[in-house]
Amino acid sequence: MSSQPKLRVLLTKQEIEAAVNKLATQIRKDYRDKYPLLIGVLKGSFVFMADLVRLLDFPLEVDFIQVSSYGQARQSSGRVKVVQGLRSKVRGRDVLVVEDIVDTGFTTSFLLNYLRKKKPASLKLCALTDKPSRRQVEVGIDYLGFTVPDRFLVGYGLDWDQQFRNLPDIYVVED
Ligand code: 5GP
Ligand code: MG
Repeated sequence: MSSQPKLRVLLTKQEIEAAVNKLATQIRKDYRDKYPLLIGVLKGSFVFMADLVRLLDFPLEVDFIQVSSYGQARQSSGRVKVVQGLRSKVRGRDVLVVEDIVDTGFTTSFLLNYLRKKKPASLKLCALTDKPSRRQVEVGIDYLGFTVPDRFLVGYGLDWDQQFRNLPDIYVVED
């Protein structure tokens, strides 16, 4: 294992909890009677998804999809493929995609296009964090937690070489 990076807190667990609460309030209002299908994007969204769904007090389904981009680990090359598909039927469903972070936008826009072809009744995006300064493809975020600076983040599901997903706060990796 390589040397450990220095981490600096960017968002505390209290701030994250408040943001997730706010998002859940909006989602409860919009989806209460829709029996939505929430699709988490692995692996980064698993912590966010777990906190979010426990604040949604109505019937819903949860599924996960894993995509990967070809190329270097820290940079989306723009070519994305599905490495673990869905079990659920998307056609006719009200689908809410749950993302940890929208960075260049390649992953999310690929995924939204992929899902749109499956003819959901509606398709929206909930992202905990957004790094708009890095955007290369436009992505509309319907429910957003935080706008974050152009720094590499870890914690609350986000990893650095598969480490730090378990940290309850979100940190910037100092270089
Ligand atoms: P995009 O395709 O929008 O460039 O990036 C999407 C994926 O890259 C995210 O879902 C996430 O897995 C990864 N990513 C982008 N920025 C960060 C970051 O700051 N920290 C971590 N851990 N992953 C990131
Ligand atoms: Mg992701």
